[in-house]
Amino acid sequence: MLNTAPGKLELEELVLDDPGPDEVLVDVHYSGLCRSDLHEIEGAWPATCPTLLGHEASGVVRQVGDQVRTLRPGDHVVTCLSTYCGECRFCLSGRMTLCVRRGSLGSRTRPVLVNARGQSVHPTARLGAFAEAMVVHEHSAVRIPDSMPLAPAAVLGCAVVTGLSSVFRSARVEPGSTVAVIGCGGIGIAAIQGARLAGAREIIAVDAVEARLTDAVHFGATATVPAGTVDAVAAVRELTGGGVDYSFEAVGFAATVEQAFAMLGPGGTATVVGLVPDSQPISIRGADLFLLEKRLQGALMGSNQFPTDIPGYVRYYEQGRLNLDDMLSTIVPLDQINEGFELMQTAGGTRVVVDIRSGS
Ligand SMILES: [Zn+2]
Ligand SMILES: [Zn+2]
Repeated sequence: MLNTAPGKLELEELVLDDPGPDEVLVDVHYSGLCRSDLHEIEGAWPATCPTLLGHEASGVVRQVGDQVRTLRPGDHVVTCLSTYCGECRFCLSGRMTLCVRRGSLGSRTRPVLVNARGQSVHPTARLGAFAEAMVVHEHSAVRIPDSMPLAPAAVLGCAVVTGLSSVFRSARVEPGSTVAVIGCGGIGIAAIQGARLAGAREIIAVDAVEARLTDAVHFGATATVPAGTVDAVAAVRELTGGGVDYSFEAVGFAATVEQAFAMLGPGGTATVVGLVPDSQPISIRGADLFLLEKRLQGALMGSNQFPTDIPGYVRYYEQGRLNLDDMLSTIVPLDQINEGFELMQTAGGTRVVVDIRSGS
């Protein structure tokens, strides 16, 4: 629970409502810590307090509403923020992250969560995964095979689907192409693995933190650029003889978006996966759009189609082609979640995951 922002997470007993007709009750097993949770905890992004954070979960369905068609009790699931209606023009054309009816989905007559003081508690992104159980719209979760271990499955729902789908769906990286990834946290590492799976010839990892570059090589980067000590744009242009075919910005700063665009070769596409604050205007060279046919595009959660993407990514994992195990740097119990967020900022490694059920 986040009762004030900026603040710390507090452990509290909440009352969870029964699932509505189109909702499911999920027993949460693992929940990944994401930088966007941290932004709300630190007050960098506005939080609707009291709020229950956490949006990257795996678990088991306990109960389903009477109109639920895609899930049954006992199903193992991964949750995703990209809740979709399945009926609007964006959903029907496969652009489910742009669903225009998301806001009206799961509108309920009673609050889903109530605290001991009788206040309604806001579950972040209609999920609220830092809890033993959650009630979510059936289109916020997707079934995965029972054989998939639930700890690595948790990171599929945000970091991995965002990184991989930005490569496969937003940018459509071609075999034999050259790729640069700026920012090698969870999403950047997933993008590097996506570029490897897509058959990219060169995968250049760009980050100011040396440990992250070491990780990046472990997950498939073919070259690294220490952004803290060298000019990243010049280094990438030199490594590729004139610029990359695809760049990915997974940081969320105007300056790194500008770098992502500047390090493209002719005909290249820069995909912005990070969320740049409104206070930072982006400046690019207009002539590059025209004379060099460079493209700058955004990708919300990697333009994913998570009901089909996530089961596909499970197959890559089962085949040993997608390394999720090494992305889980630390697993902490729920009562040490604040320490988990500290670890996320200080320690190397990619993803801290909470084991919701340990000790219970
Ligand atoms: Zn996230
Ligand atoms: Zn829709």
